[in-house]
Amino acid sequence: MREFSSPLKLQTYRESLEGSVGFVPTMGALHEGHISLIKRSINENDHTIVSIFVNPTQFLEGEDLDKYPRKIEADRKICELAGVDILFMPTIDDIYHGDELRIIAPKIKGYILEGAKRPKHFDGVLQIVLKLLHITNPTRAYFGKKDAQQLYLIQNMVRDLFMSVEIVPCEIVRESDGLALSSRNIYLSSEERAKALLISKSLKEASGLVLKGVRDSKRIKAQMLEIMRDIDVEYVEIVDRAFNLLDEVKIKDSIILVAARVGSTRLIDNIWI
Ligand code: AMP
Repeated sequence: MREFSSPLKLQTYRESLEGSVGFVPTMGALHEGHISLIKRSINENDHTIVSIFVNPTQFLEGEDLDKYPRKIEADRKICELAGVDILFMPTIDDIYHGDELRIIAPKIKGYILEGAKRPKHFDGVLQIVLKLLHITNPTRAYFGKKDAQQLYLIQNMVRDLFMSVEIVPCEIVRESDGLALSSRNIYLSSEERAKALLISKSLKEASGLVLKGVRDSKRIKAQMLEIMRDIDVEYVEIVDRAFNLLDEVKIKDSIILVAARVGSTRLIDNIWI
């Protein structure tokens, strides 16, 4: 496995590669969710690049940027064992140049739901993803459906800017009890972890209701909130695949989204209907 921190050196090396290149951007503290994206990329491409970069511009004032888990040695081993060809771990100075061009997320879809709770978060996400896509120039880039709004905004950025990369959405990986894997799960105490399970439980209940024929968003959301009554829910919403709020679930065109705080840990999860 080759390692780069310099964007220019990686770009030069990438130009020399023949065949398809898959790219998996991450913030590290790699878990089975990340590994599923990495394995998919390895299966579908001649070369796979993984980046690890805790991007400061997507964290808001007062969020967990400083304490975000960093596990470089373990991550390096995971990448090596998985068969990653190139690990890209730039520093903040490698990526940002001070007073520079800024990306602003779409006015509406970038500022609802996650974007309303974390204003400007998606500005930072799109800024870093755009930079990383330019540096790595991949054939395909892999993103988890767990960050559904992020995935949607990245797909639209690629469309808006006429970029040729294929964005590949990947399924959410969960623990056997349903908890969606997240680097932030390590913040949870065992009691908090038990409470965090209510999020996936409520989503399972929602999909069960839909299977039984329930379509009314209000009724589904009320049932979910009842299940999550012991945690601090930030939002429960049902949207179509273009992130328009829905009063009625549309089969094969809905996503049910939850954001909640368990103790001081903020978690998101969703289910695609
Ligand atoms: P992060 O390191 O949290 O920025 O995540 C890097 C990529 O992994 C993003 O595309 C995430 O959506 C994806 N990801 C994170 N958790 C999961 C999960 N449990 N299942 C599938 N993909 C995930």
